[in-house]
Amino acid sequence: MSVTAMQTKTMMQTKAAVLLEFNGASKRYVNVENQCVDALLPVTAKLHNGEFASLLGPSGCGKTTLLKMAAGLLEPSSGNITLADGQPVKPGSYGFVFQSAALLPWRTAFDNVMLPATVLGLPKSSSKRRALELLEMVGLSHALHKRPHELSGGMQQRVSIARALLHDPALLFMDEPFGALDAMTREELNLELQRIHLNYAKSVLFVTHDIEEAVLLSDRILVMSSGPGRLVKEIQVQLERPRSLAVKRDPEFYRIVQEVRDLLHRPVTIVNRPTPNS
Ligand code: ADP
Repeated sequence: MSVTAMQTKTMMQTKAAVLLEFNGASKRYVNVENQCVDALLPVTAKLHNGEFASLLGPSGCGKTTLLKMAAGLLEPSSGNITLADGQPVKPGSYGFVFQSAALLPWRTAFDNVMLPATVLGLPKSSSKRRALELLEMVGLSHALHKRPHELSGGMQQRVSIARALLHDPALLFMDEPFGALDAMTREELNLELQRIHLNYAKSVLFVTHDIEEAVLLSDRILVMSSGPGRLVKEIQVQLERPRSLAVKRDPEFYRIVQEVRDLLHRPVTIVNRPTPNS
C-alpha cells in the first residue's frame, strides 16, 4: 500500500470522531440604521477529525460569519460552537488563511512564516526548522528571502498557508483563500491544499462560493443559501483520493455539481427563525 493510500485509510478510520460542533449557532447583526438583521439562521452541524468540509453558498449568505464564529473571533447571537469536549476553540489552536495573504510587507517570506512563533512564544530553533520545511512543502525554498512585493499572488498565498501551519494546528480555517487568484493558479493550489490535507491529516473548514472547487476538495459540503443565510443541506463527496483535475470528468463529480447548483437556485423557504439571546 502506498504511503498516501495508507494515510487516506487512517484518515477514513479517524473520521468518525467529532472535532467541532455547531449547536444552533446563529448571528444577528445591528446595521448602521440600528436595525437587527438576521445574517445567519441557526446552524447545527459537525466537523470530524481529519475531515475537509466546505461552506459553500452565494455572497452574503453568512459563510465568513459562520467561520469566524467557529474560530471564536465572533460571538454567536444564539447557540454555540464548541470542540468535542464542550470547550470553545482557543486562539492559537488553529490556523487561519484569509482571502488576501495579509503578509507583512517589510518581512521576508521566511520571516512571515515565522510570525506565529513570535506571537505564540514558540521555541525559535524548532520553529525555524519547521518554517523551512513548510516553505519547501509549498514549493518556495527558492524564495525564502524575498519580500511579498517580489512574490506573485499564488506565491503569497502559499506563504500564508505555510504561516498558518507553523504551530502544527489540527484545525485549519480558510476563508476563500484562492478567490483572488487566476483560474490556473487556483487549480494548482487546490491540488497543493489537498496534498497538505492528506499528508498532514489536518481538519479543514473551507469557505468558497465556487462549486467545482468545493467538490474537488471536500469530504462534505455544507450548502448555504442567503436571504437570510442558512444551512440548506450537507452533501457527502465520496470520490476517491487523492483527486486529480481529471476527476472533474467523472460522472459522480458532475452529478454532485448539479445537485449543489440545483440547491443554490431553489426558491427560498424559511422554516423557523431564531430567537437570538443577544
Ligand atoms: P459571506 O461570507 O457568505 O459573503 P458574510 O458572513 O460576510 O457572508 O455576511 C453575511 C451577511 O451579514 C451579509 O448580509 C453582510 O452584509 C452582513 N454582515 C456581515 N458583517 C456584518 C457586520 N459587522 N455588521 C452588519 N452586517 C454584517
